[in-house]
This record gives sequence, structure tokens and C-alpha cells, in this order.
Amino acid sequence: MARSPASAGPERLVVATSNAGKAREIREILSGTGIGVEDLSGHPPVSFPEEGGDYRANALAKARAAALQLGEWALADDSGLEVEGLGGAPGPYSARYGGAGLDDRGRVEHLLDELAARPGASRQARFVCWASLVGPDGEARSGFGECPGRILAQPCGQGGFGYDPVFQPDGYEQSMAELPEDTKNRISHRARALQELVRSLGSRPQP
Ligand code: IMP
Repeated sequence: MARSPASAGPERLVVATSNAGKAREIREILSGTGIGVEDLSGHPPVSFPEEGGDYRANALAKARAAALQLGEWALADDSGLEVEGLGGAPGPYSARYGGAGLDDRGRVEHLLDELAARPGASRQARFVCWASLVGPDGEARSGFGECPGRILAQPCGQGGFGYDPVFQPDGYEQSMAELPEDTKNRISHRARALQELVRSLGSRPQP
């Protein structure tokens, strides 16, 4: 993904997430922009605010906390899975679905159990993502992306993270966890949010 030559923005940034899967994807998606991408290792610990039910506000708050505490440009995303037959759940609470103590695999099982308890419930779903970039002076930009698909009957594939094994993107026969990494990083909600954000670097910052 290339930046326009006229664009402003950072030469390097810190990805403000402790989710290794996300950090790896963000680094890959931003390769080719000319922006140096660092993760949180090698930086002092950052204390992040509590997350609420608004993706954009959560992404901005995480990026702002890291930017101000580290004195660096910081990028954060807030993302989630929205399933039609579950009224949009797990949504912004995707990382904590089924309660604390579950891992990715446990959350996937919980999701399948919830759908199994509602025979006929729609399995249409989408991943959504807001990504925010904040400078050390508080200057901010955000971008949104979504990836529509459906929830499979059982997990398939080893790639990706989170709900990828049970999410089949529209237009594909495999789960997100079976698709090659570069395909996910072209079509995902995170890729689309970052593309919008990078495109905005030449324009005025947002409030
Ligand atoms: P966040 O850290 O609050 O943004 O939580 C995002 C959660 O949504 C993750 O922990 C995953 O469970 C899920 N999620 C977000 N993006 C993806 C993805 O690309 N694949 C699979 N699961 C995802």
C-alpha cells in the first residue's frame, strides 16, 4: 500500500496492541508505505484505558494513550465480529465473549454454542475495524473497514487468530484461517481500515 507523495504523517509508528496476531498483520499491511512499524516491545510499558462499546472511541483512546505516554506516533485498532443471528454480538466485546478466562478457541466454541442454541438463526456476519493513528502532540486520524461473510458450522484452518477459523469471507470457499496470509491482509476489515487511514494522511487531521 503506497502513500501519496504529498502525504504528511509519521516516518515511523508504534503499534499499540498486545495482540501478537494483530501486530503482525498491521506490520504486513503497512509494508510498502515507507512507514517504519515497531511493536510495544522495546518501549516502556503503556497503561491503556478501559474499553467501552464504541470501536472508534476505543481505538482513539488506545492510540492516544500510547502516543502521549511514549512521545511517539502510535497506531491502535479496535475490531470485532458482528453476527446477525446474535443481534450483532459479540461486537466490541469480541475479545471478552463468554467471559474472562476463555482463550480464542474457547470463544469460538462459545460462539458456536450460542448459534446452536438458536436453530435457524442467521449466520451472516461481518468483521469491523476502526484504526486510529495519533501523534505525540495529539493529532489524530481514523479509518474504518469491514469484511462481510458467514459463520461456519465448525472451525477450519490454522492461520490468523481469534474467530478466523469459523469465518468464511464472502466470495471465498475457505475460512479466513485457511486463506493465505496475504489474501487476508488484502481483504480484511483491518486492511480496509488501514487503507482508509493511510489515504487520509495527506488531508487535515480529524478531531
Ligand atoms: P480488540 O482487541 O478489543 O480489538 O478485540 C478484537 C477481538 O475481536 C479479538 O480478540 C478477536 O477475538 C476478534 N477479532 C478482531 N479482528 C479479528 C480478526 O482479524 N480475526 C479474528 N478475530 C478477530
